[in-house]
Amino acid sequence: MVSVLLVEDDPVVRSAVTRALTGLGHAVLPVGTALEALREVAGARFDLVVLDLGLPDMDGADALRMMRGVCDVPVIVATARDDEAEIVRLLNAGADDYLVKPFSSEHLAARLSAVLRRARAVEASSTAPLRIGELTIDLDRREARLAGREVHLTRKEFDLLAYLAARAGKVVPRAELLANLWNLPGRHDDQTLDVHLSWLRRKLGERAAQPRYLHTVRGVGFKLTAAE
Ligand code: CA
Repeated sequence: MVSVLLVEDDPVVRSAVTRALTGLGHAVLPVGTALEALREVAGARFDLVVLDLGLPDMDGADALRMMRGVCDVPVIVATARDDEAEIVRLLNAGADDYLVKPFSSEHLAARLSAVLRRARAVEASSTAPLRIGELTIDLDRREARLAGREVHLTRKEFDLLAYLAARAGKVVPRAELLANLWNLPGRHDDQTLDVHLSWLRRKLGERAAQPRYLHTVRGVGFKLTAAE
C-alpha cells in the first residue's frame, strides 16, 4: 500500500482526490494547509506527496522548498497555471512532477505511478557501488563520496549523478535525462537540467569551464568520466 499525503485546501477537490486515491488502493492523509503538511512530513514517512500550490498560508514553491529541507519524499505539485516558466520554477524547487488543474483521476493515477516507478527504479537498481576515479556512488545507501568524503546531494542531484555514473564514459543526451529523470519527454533544452547540473558541479567542486567528472557535450548532452 502506498501512503500519500494530500495537501489541498479546497474541501471539494480534497474529498474528490482522496476518493480517487483511496479507490486506487492507496492510504491517504488529507491536510488543508502547508504548515500541516510540513508538520506531517517531519513526523512520518510518506511514499508520495500531492501538493496543491494555491494554499491559504504559504506560496507553493516556498512550501515545496521547506518540505525539501525536511525530507526527500517524491512530490507531485498540482498547479492551476499551465505555463512553462512556472513549471520549470517548480521543478527547480524540487518537484518530481506536476499536474495542471483540473485533472482527472486517471491522469493523477498515471502521474503517481510514474513517479513511484522512477523512485523505485532508482532504489531497486541495487548493485555494488559505482566507482569512477575518486568518485564512489552507493545506490543502495544513496550516498556519493568524493575522495572518501561524503557529498551531500538532494534526491534529484543524486539521481542525475547516479544516472550518468551508470553510463560513465557515454554521452547521455539531454532529452534522455529529461525524459527519464523528470518525466519531460520530448524536451531538449530545459533549464531544469542545467540548474541541477550546475548544483551538482558545485558540490563536486568543479566548474563547467574546468570539468573533472561532469563534461558538457555541447548541443548533445552530458558525460561523466574520471578526471584525467
Ligand atoms: Ca487551492
